[in-house]
Amino acid sequence: GSTVLDTSLSNVSLGSSFPEERDTEIEHEVKCLSIIVLGASGDLAKKKTFPALFHLFQQGFLQENDVHIFGYARTKLSDDDLRERIRGYLSHKSSSGQTEVLSRFLQLIKYVSGSYDSEDGFQLLNKEISEHEISKNSQPGTSRRLFYLALPPSVYPSVCRMIRRYCMNQSDLGGWTRIVVEKPFGKDLKSAEDLSAQLGELFDEQQLYRIDHYLGKELVQNLLVVRFANRFFLPLWNRDNIDNIQIVFREDFGTEGRGGYFDEYGIIRDIIQNHLLQVLCLVAMEKPVSLKPEHIRDEKVKVLQSVLPIKLEEVVLGQYEGYKDDSTVSDSSNTPTFATVILRIDNERWEGHNFHLLDLSMCKKQGRNELVIRLQPSEAMYMKLTVKKPGLEMSTIQSELDLSYGLRYQDVKIPEAYERLILDTIRGDQQHFVRRDELRVAWEIFTPLLHRIDAGQLEPISYKPGSRGPAEADELLAKAGYVQT
Ligand code: NDP
Repeated sequence: GSTVLDTSLSNVSLGSSFPEERDTEIEHEVKCLSIIVLGASGDLAKKKTFPALFHLFQQGFLQENDVHIFGYARTKLSDDDLRERIRGYLSHKSSSGQTEVLSRFLQLIKYVSGSYDSEDGFQLLNKEISEHEISKNSQPGTSRRLFYLALPPSVYPSVCRMIRRYCMNQSDLGGWTRIVVEKPFGKDLKSAEDLSAQLGELFDEQQLYRIDHYLGKELVQNLLVVRFANRFFLPLWNRDNIDNIQIVFREDFGTEGRGGYFDEYGIIRDIIQNHLLQVLCLVAMEKPVSLKPEHIRDEKVKVLQSVLPIKLEEVVLGQYEGYKDDSTVSDSSNTPTFATVILRIDNERWEGHNFHLLDLSMCKKQGRNELVIRLQPSEAMYMKLTVKKPGLEMSTIQSELDLSYGLRYQDVKIPEAYERLILDTIRGDQQHFVRRDELRVAWEIFTPLLHRIDAGQLEPISYKPGSRGPAEADELLAKAGYVQT
């Protein structure tokens, strides 16, 4: 029998109606909005945060008459210095209309300089925000303040203490204060829990938005719709019909000077424990009781709790040749740049089933149907089928039912993940953010393995850059029953 969720989902048109389904749950604020980018002098701010804000402005989601944007960092900059730093990242089109929108956007930005534990700095920041609110005739406490921490996590606790002490809005008057934090959320279970506890003392979970930008990607957001709004997938999506699921991430470049950061974290912390595990949740979770963010996040936690402990013999680690030539990487580094990990989910739907988390390529096999969902680059979804080869002969070939977004939706600009996630923060929709308990279980899964790697008990196998990784990874998949053809 179909449930309420089936009915509502099969009535939605892709993309546009998901938020409308929950309209009653999401706040529609009309009060003055201040967006404060902390670490505004940095890389993420100029490459992602400010461009995302600009796109929201261009599309009318941020309105000049109620929004102001503040940059905060230690570097001494004038308002114009910051505007010049980010200008080049904001637009590639130079039509006159575009230039005019760009300069209107830049005029919304102010810069405040101060350190991340300075009372003076945060008092000054608060004064600037308050002046903006007063200029918009906003009553004290009724405005919205969004703090975006584009900063190294080492300063999150002190910045959050300062915000809490000097820059809060009073939510009982209808306003709010929300904090967006970036990965990495700790390095293992304990450090993540420590960070969560420190932030949890200062802010409610409803005020904290832990960004995993994979959750803002078009096709990641599409996963639940595809799974639960298509009748033919509903009965098939389980261990009886699905041989295995591979979640594959690959990159064709090395550390390129970011070796210092990467070497401390490695591929499991950088990609698998967060981004790929989030994808796994959406692929494997049960149907949520409703589309409310908390119901969806409840199901994600449950599926993570069903993951069995990782077996060391079901892990292959690799490090590409030449990795240690990077001057920012230590000569004795055993940090993996490649990993294949088999996760087994012990619940009714998947019991005994293999999920392979890899950083390499997809495989194909004659006679087997394959559903490929390509998150990036060039979003696409295609299903491999066996069909009769066209012509007089009766022979078969593999072909695809192909939904390539670039061809099918030529007129639609697919929004950047950050753009969507910032808009969700303004709307108070936490569905696509990582809840504290979700983070804890994700770390529980990988921490024992990570501690062994950190202790030098597992050595990565060398492989050639640009290759599929160590041959042992394919052997592992074969042993687990997956034969590539
Ligand atoms: P940056 O190293 O560029 O740091 C941002 C700003 O923080 C700097 O401009 C600097 O500003 C200040 N800062 C840097 N180091 C320190 C320090 N040790 N103590 C105090 N302040 C410091 O980082 P990113 O912009 O690259 O990243 C910010 C956050 O986003 C990080 O948590 C990162 O992991 C995460 N992230 C980044 C991505 C990216 O593409 N860059 C992608 C995904 C996540 P000032 O000196 O002016 O105060």
